[in-house]
Amino acid sequence: MSLLTETNTSVEVQNYIDSVFNKVKEKDPNQEEFHQAVYVIFKSIKPVLVKNPHYIHHNILERIVEPERLITFRVPWVDDQGNIQVNRGYRVQFNSAIGPYKGGLRFHPSVNTSIIKFLGFEQIFKNALTGQPIGGGKGGADFDPKGKSDGEIMRFCQSYMMELANHIGPDTDVPAGDIGVGAREIGYMFGQYKKIKRSFEAGVLTGKGLLYGGSLARKEATGYGAIYFVKEMLNDQGQSIAGKNVVISGSGNVSIYAIEKAMELGANVIACSDSGGYIYDPDGINLDTVKQLKEVQRRRISEYALIHPSATYMEGSSGIWSIPCDIALPCATQNELDGKAAKTLVENGVKIVAEGANMPSTADAIALFLESNILFGPAKAVNAGGVAVSALEMGQNSSRMAWTFEEVDKKLQQIMKDIYQNSVQAAEAYHKPGNLISGASIAGFTKVADAMIEQGVI
Ligand code: NAP
Repeated sequence: MSLLTETNTSVEVQNYIDSVFNKVKEKDPNQEEFHQAVYVIFKSIKPVLVKNPHYIHHNILERIVEPERLITFRVPWVDDQGNIQVNRGYRVQFNSAIGPYKGGLRFHPSVNTSIIKFLGFEQIFKNALTGQPIGGGKGGADFDPKGKSDGEIMRFCQSYMMELANHIGPDTDVPAGDIGVGAREIGYMFGQYKKIKRSFEAGVLTGKGLLYGGSLARKEATGYGAIYFVKEMLNDQGQSIAGKNVVISGSGNVSIYAIEKAMELGANVIACSDSGGYIYDPDGINLDTVKQLKEVQRRRISEYALIHPSATYMEGSSGIWSIPCDIALPCATQNELDGKAAKTLVENGVKIVAEGANMPSTADAIALFLESNILFGPAKAVNAGGVAVSALEMGQNSSRMAWTFEEVDKKLQQIMKDIYQNSVQAAEAYHKPGNLISGASIAGFTKVADAMIEQGVI
């Protein structure tokens, strides 16, 4: 094949990329989210393949898009009325070139193979970027936790773990939380794992409660990490976040702690949302109320406006992007920020967009941000703080130590700084200065691809 020569032209490389991408689409035509994630990575790493043809010789692209293992399973459970319910559970063990599979579990009715595969694929490169020895994985179920009692959540988690326990372990695969899975769910799953295995293996799950092996600052890590990343982006421009108007979508784990850190650094956070709608409070939102409503009482964000008359509530979550701001942080879910929303943000003068959620911006939104010279922070870099601190949790578990909040937070800040610098440098090395999507993808990809080559064809 001509692609094996030392002098690949850009056209030959594009042909190789296209042929692998077409195979991905032909094999799994209904996995749109997965195709979207593959497209972004392939586009970003093209210059790497032009300069380093041995990646083509080793057919890394075709190998990297195929999960090492994809598990689906039945999750039966009994609801409070005594009815038997059945959900579908998933775990994708995508790539273990640099460490055990690592990635969260999502419980949401939209979960399907495409969503789990896109999340697992992204996780490979994100985890490599953290500098920690962790491979890529992801999992979840099409279970809707909304409106379920504690007992129902517990029975679901126990049934889910009944099967998952056969596939995970501290040196094999280490799940954590994601949408719909927080400390409560991790607790129920950890209890069940311990009972099945008859062994206390703290390192099998991360995001645990502090009483049984959790790490301080894990809860805050993704949101804080996102703001530390934005701080680095601003530093490079000789600016700071203090006094900036910030819009943050969602009001879950990532959003709440992004809001907290942004406010602590002097930003004015004026809006947040949930899947029903958004609140706008021009004087700055009251985080205690958001925490009380969403973390403690598991209620709707609409109730915020009843408590704070200065705020307005609007139905429909996507309207949040019509609020003029300096910094926009999509922190809710995939494809929540489309081309139309991006256009409005740009027209309203946004300076920075940084992705706290996974793949929240559609491809046309990203293209518009780049064309308009908006500073854009991609998810795999911006939200890597969560999995980075998960890896620190694994380290504390295996050494049977517990670090202070300050120690973990300091390490998190350094990791986010390094991720930013490595992304900037990789972008420059491949003649894409300032393009952090290219930089982050390239830095993550080369590390994983090199490890795959060193380990042979497996
Ligand atoms: P979470 O705690 O379950 O919160 C999700 C939030 O997003 C909720 O407020 C939810 O509202 C809201 N939401 C869902 N769909 C929405 C929509 N279409 N429009 C507006 N809001 C919507 O989940 P999370 O852990 O914060 O995760 C959020 C995102 O960050 C996900 O993309 C996840 O993959 C990513 N992420 C999370 C971590 C982590 O450590 N947790 C790490 C890296 C990346 P409702 O309350 O109405 O459901």
